[in-house]
Amino acid sequence: MIFGKDEERYEKIKLRVAEALKRDVGRGIVRFDRKFQKQLGVEPGDIVELIGDRTTAAIVANPHPDDRGLDIIRMDGYIRRNAGVSIGDYVTVAKAEVQEAKKVTLAPAQKGVFIQIPGDMVKQNLLGRPVVKGDLVVASSRGETYYGGSPFDELLRGLFETMPLGFGELKFVVVSTNPKGVVQITYNTEVEVLPQAVEVREEAIPEVTYEDIGGLSDAIQKIREMVELPLKHPELFERLGIEPPKGVLLYGPPGTGKTLLAKAVANEANAHFIAINGPEVMSKFYGESEERLREIFKEAEENAPSIIFIDEIDAIAPKREEVVGEVEKRVVSQLLTLMDGLKGRGKVIVIAATNRPDALDPALRRPGRFDREIEVGVPDKKGRKEILQIHTRGMPLEPDYDRETVLKVLKELLKKKAFDEEVLKKLMERVEKARSDDEVKEILKSASEVYPEVRTRLIEGMLERIAEKTHGFVGADLAALAREAAMVVLRRLINEGKISPEHEKIPPEVLQELRVRKADFYEALKM
Ligand code: ADP
Repeated sequence: MIFGKDEERYEKIKLRVAEALKRDVGRGIVRFDRKFQKQLGVEPGDIVELIGDRTTAAIVANPHPDDRGLDIIRMDGYIRRNAGVSIGDYVTVAKAEVQEAKKVTLAPAQKGVFIQIPGDMVKQNLLGRPVVKGDLVVASSRGETYYGGSPFDELLRGLFETMPLGFGELKFVVVSTNPKGVVQITYNTEVEVLPQAVEVREEAIPEVTYEDIGGLSDAIQKIREMVELPLKHPELFERLGIEPPKGVLLYGPPGTGKTLLAKAVANEANAHFIAINGPEVMSKFYGESEERLREIFKEAEENAPSIIFIDEIDAIAPKREEVVGEVEKRVVSQLLTLMDGLKGRGKVIVIAATNRPDALDPALRRPGRFDREIEVGVPDKKGRKEILQIHTRGMPLEPDYDRETVLKVLKELLKKKAFDEEVLKKLMERVEKARSDDEVKEILKSASEVYPEVRTRLIEGMLERIAEKTHGFVGADLAALAREAAMVVLRRLINEGKISPEHEKIPPEVLQELRVRKADFYEALKM
């Protein structure tokens, strides 16, 4: 057989893009049915090329059990952006021709961010990753990135576990690669990190994707239909002879993700985004607020498709029977005039947010204005867990390896036939005899193919416990809780004298201790 000929037997297939599992975000992996993997001639750990409006590459991971038989491919917002596709689009998938990267140059994705970080440190977070020039990648310190049977497995994992806390989620753009095409970052790759953002392509880089929003799948679905669809395909509405919506009202308590939702839909629809804040617009000076609104609408039309996001709209447009000043009356009527005048046929959509929908001027809610509503409520337990997953993505979480829980997890894996039966049974026997959590962990680590899965499940269990204990918390509270739990760890190490500002360099064994455990979250909850 001639080398390379092999590839030609395999096809390219089209799969429908679906969102990633929350825990997969930032890992550079895609999941799709084994049937299609066979068709493409790839296995978990291999690299596939993804071709949409752009071309990128990703590592194939095991399919999600629920996706069996479906023609979907799961990928996160970074990969979607890199492939130039959105959820629901079709993407062409093919086995990639990958070369080892000799050199990869990265720059911070955000303008105005200045970072000085050794390339090797970033490299540790991207080992095994396939990249293409222009890709957006996130280097997160969560660990357990997928390695397709690399001989360095254990070593890599060790390195991951020493990543400093708060290194968190740095986003980089791949400025150049040598050689060109799809390259894989390995130990031999030289990774250079430029200190400042450079212009790679003109489009805005998504700051927020749907995967950054927890517990709001209904709201996401609605906003996709009401906003993303008309922005991306105004022709559908034209053809059907119906008016696309001009205004959508998001209502719910503060800190539940209304702003996130508006930003995410703007990013996913590749729309220009302008945010204003109700109270800020209100000006005492005659005509100034109206002038500002006119400018904003002009900017939106010039840059269409656009989204104008008005936070706290109740400050601009309170009910008229409430005490309303002259300014409010003028501003409301200007806003209504501007909305009525929108002729972009769905190319400009105004999203407004309020926590008091009943306090709004009813004139705003007439047809052709804010005539659609989406509730953004307080999350339930499942939602809280999702939000916690999102806000601990960049954190080195450490589960408790308590014997009973670990045995339960192993039993589940046995039932699902996820790993070799013999291996699992032997592990269970050994775990049963273990005398401490540390010993349980050591035993698990010795089964290197099972360990990451058990660890992932234990972390999920840990977040579930925390979700149970945080009834009534909204997204913003949970984000604060995650930060606070990390601070608990830092404070403890400072109190123990292990970290101090005088230290030139934090010793590796201390970095190793920067782990956030369930107990740290509980401690943070007490404050
Ligand atoms: P709102 O606009 O409803 O007042 P925001 O969208 O501004 O709330 O949320 C504030 C912050 O709280 C967000 O930046 C995010 O960190 C966190 N947050 C709020 N809701 C969620 C959510 N549903 N999922 C993930 N994070 C959330």
